[in-house]
Amino acid sequence: MGASLPSAAVLCHVLVVGAGPAALCMATALARRQLAVTLLVAQDPWRPWPNTYGIWSHELDEPGLGFLLAHRWRHCSSVFLGEQLDHGLDYGLIDKDGLQGYWRQLCSQHGVRVQQDGAVAIQHHPGHSDVQGASGQRYRARLVVDATGHQPVFVQRPRCTAVAQQAAYGVVGRFSTPPIQPGSFVLMDYRNGHLSSEQQQEPPTFLYAMDLGSGTYFVEETSLAAYPPLPFHLLKHRLEQRLERQGCVVEQVHEVEQCLFPMNLPLPDRRQRVVGFGGAATMVHPASGYMLGSLLRRGPGLAAAIAQGLRQGRRGAALSRAAWGNLWSDDLVRRHGIYRFGLEKLMRLNSNDLQTFFHTFFHLPQPLWRGFLTNTLPLASLTGAMVRLLTAAPWTIRRHLLWPQGRELNLLLAGLLLR
Ligand SMILES: Cc1cc2nc3c(=O)[nH]c(=O)nc-3n(C[C@H](O)[C@H](O)[C@H](O)COP(=O)(O)OP(=O)(O)OC[C@H]3O[C@@H](n4cnc5c(N)ncnc54)[C@H](O)[C@@H]3O)c2cc1C
Repeated sequence: MGASLPSAAVLCHVLVVGAGPAALCMATALARRQLAVTLLVAQDPWRPWPNTYGIWSHELDEPGLGFLLAHRWRHCSSVFLGEQLDHGLDYGLIDKDGLQGYWRQLCSQHGVRVQQDGAVAIQHHPGHSDVQGASGQRYRARLVVDATGHQPVFVQRPRCTAVAQQAAYGVVGRFSTPPIQPGSFVLMDYRNGHLSSEQQQEPPTFLYAMDLGSGTYFVEETSLAAYPPLPFHLLKHRLEQRLERQGCVVEQVHEVEQCLFPMNLPLPDRRQRVVGFGGAATMVHPASGYMLGSLLRRGPGLAAAIAQGLRQGRRGAALSRAAWGNLWSDDLVRRHGIYRFGLEKLMRLNSNDLQTFFHTFFHLPQPLWRGFLTNTLPLASLTGAMVRLLTAAPWTIRRHLLWPQGRELNLLLAGLLLR
């Protein structure tokens, strides 16, 4: 693997840094391609993940992982402008311990070496990179994949001055009366009659809720995205007001979730030596906040591109470029530009206009809105869906969507011009 080996360095083809869903997905996809993979993890690698992960069920069914759903709801609906809309599509809650255990088993089966050590520094050489761990240990790899989340340790991206974040405050627990229809899942309930008229002028939030069975529910007050992000105490207060309006009292709290992550970050520079995956590579869908489905769809392709690059003898920057080009193809970069533009639009809408927008959006044919939300529509179809949305929307919304404000045009052009 090259000269001047640092003392007692750990050697591998690919060093994957992190232990969240992105890192495990990538480490196993690479190891399945017979590559020598080391997973570098700051803390206990098998520490339970803190987040609750929801997903459209078909995104797990398609790769044959439907058994990793802890819950699956047939009744999935939203409320916009006071009207309940049945989405006619199954939604699921990922069994996060099950998914972690599944990847752990694959790591062990395919010989992934797991090192508990935080990555602190990196040095690139023509044919390899050396990562230094907090312990002082060095790790040498042909390629480094940074999967350390939304604030990555190595991946660089252009500075973003106004980071819009999705924020949510949720409670898993038992309630005096069911907070939602038993057996159901609520994607977005935008009713706001429980808020004062001043609160109704503030950025809108919605209820995301699920019946977890045995009398337990998860209810979460969510802000799709806002800059600056809505504070947790405000979301908590709105959730309490919402429940109070229904005469619903929290009787037992099993878990509290405070969710905060960036939605509108620019894409990383695709010429850099370290390759990102997951939050580190800006893979969160800018208009919905979802990411796990994308990991499962795009992980195997990225692993295949890396394995092929190595087989063909690519080194250093040439190998990284091939990997980045697979993860963020020109088509995906342009789609990302459209989604960021769309999010910027949505953040400007007041509650009524936002609900009107979603009401129109979810009345598009299901393959279009589903493809939009899961980022599975190729660019041409995505553009077609946007045109249909414009045609179907009332004039108030259409005018707003067509008239670019502030930095919206820059965002769109950045994507379309592949910058
Ligand atoms: C509360 C919450 C709820 C969410 N819900 C959903 C959802 O329902 N569906 C969905 O699709 N998405 C959801 N997301 C968005 C996204 O899927 C998650 O943020 C997801 O956890 C990102 O995965 P990741 O592996 O990229 O990063 P993370 O899960 O953040 O994992 C990063 C890992 O890197 C490790 N690490 C960090 N620094 C170092 C270092 N220097 N050296 C070694 N290791 C390091 C960390 O210990 C951690 O293991 C949610 C996000 C949050 C915050």
